[in-house]
Amino acid sequence: MSELQNIDKQYVANTYKRFPIEIVSGKGSIVYDDAGKRYIDMGSGIAVTSFGIADDAWVAAVTEQLSKVQHMSNLYYTEPCARLAKLLCEKTGMKKVFFGNSGAEANECAIKVARKYAADKKGADYSTIITLENSFHGRTITTLAATGQAHYHELFQPLTPGFVHAKANDLPGLIALAEQNKVAAIMVEMVQGEGGVIALDRDFVLGLYDYAKKNDILVIVDEVQTGNGRSGALYAYMNYGIMPDIVSTAKGIGGGLPLGACLLGEKTESVLGFGDHGSTFGGNPVCCAGAISIISRIDDALLAEVREKSAYIFGALEGAEGVESVSGMGLMIGIKTVKPASEVLAYCTEHGVLCLTAKDKVRLLPALNIPMDVLEEAVAVIKEACKA
Ligand SMILES: *Cc1c(COP(=O)(O)O)cnc(C)c1O
Repeated sequence: MSELQNIDKQYVANTYKRFPIEIVSGKGSIVYDDAGKRYIDMGSGIAVTSFGIADDAWVAAVTEQLSKVQHMSNLYYTEPCARLAKLLCEKTGMKKVFFGNSGAEANECAIKVARKYAADKKGADYSTIITLENSFHGRTITTLAATGQAHYHELFQPLTPGFVHAKANDLPGLIALAEQNKVAAIMVEMVQGEGGVIALDRDFVLGLYDYAKKNDILVIVDEVQTGNGRSGALYAYMNYGIMPDIVSTAKGIGGGLPLGACLLGEKTESVLGFGDHGSTFGGNPVCCAGAISIISRIDDALLAEVREKSAYIFGALEGAEGVESVSGMGLMIGIKTVKPASEVLAYCTEHGVLCLTAKDKVRLLPALNIPMDVLEEAVAVIKEACKA
């Protein structure tokens, strides 16, 4: 272990099991470690670096803003924040945006808005949020409660009350749960990311949407991982033809700087008033300038490319030796392998390809603009890694 790795081990809290690799530089989908070894980055910092490492246009946008104003409090107007909110609303049909710094914060905002909406309309006892089993919504005490995986809950009781979990793709089950509770909102990921890269069934999504509309229950879509072009649409809910009441997003929106956004629709745009919510860093001008550079480039041509690359990966890996199944949407892909995922990752790392896992699967989240020849090179290594 290098000296730096020892320092990190001694002084950084032990929450991450790191690979013994120190990344020091990169460009696009290629990164280099401290010994100069080249890797293809198939994880994008967990769906964060949407256009890869040190993308020229993003760097220019960020550094230009950095040399103007790096931060002002939310008591004043700054240009990138307003322009990004307008861009997001124009591209989605949502009405207003609250900016925070992370996915968990975007979800906290969504939950606060849903509870206030329901309290105003139906009464304060209508506070329950239904989420799905196997979901992931964040690490704060409230978003952990929203996360439908008991093993995350155990050590941190008591969590925020008012969350119940329905089985994914079981509409009668979800409706029965809704009938037993006083429900403010249903919150779902269109593709469960941390849960194993599993897309929700179309009929389930349309059914829950229809039920929620009829009962004035808000639909919150957690697009922290699926959003910002990752699914092959700007937001994954667009692949299902629904219009959520609240959309939370983070990860890829900032292209590598911390930014979260909670998009509010027609029903919810006016729920929050002065002082109801806030964030010191939320809407930071440098982060927003980077996000404008990202979001403005996620156009139809780029999304078509994302879908083509997705089809290529599915085509190359489905039925390949050692591959049991391939799941996901767009450039968010899970591979169930015969070998343990950790062994596949070890081979890939050794051969210069950085992949992720999700549950027992190998997970791929490459940059949206990964060049085709680089993608082919990575997939060839992954294919080899999956063989017995
Ligand atoms: C990563 C993730 C979160 C949490 O985001 P943070 O930025 O780590 O707080 C929430 N929801 C989903 C679906 C995620 O993938």
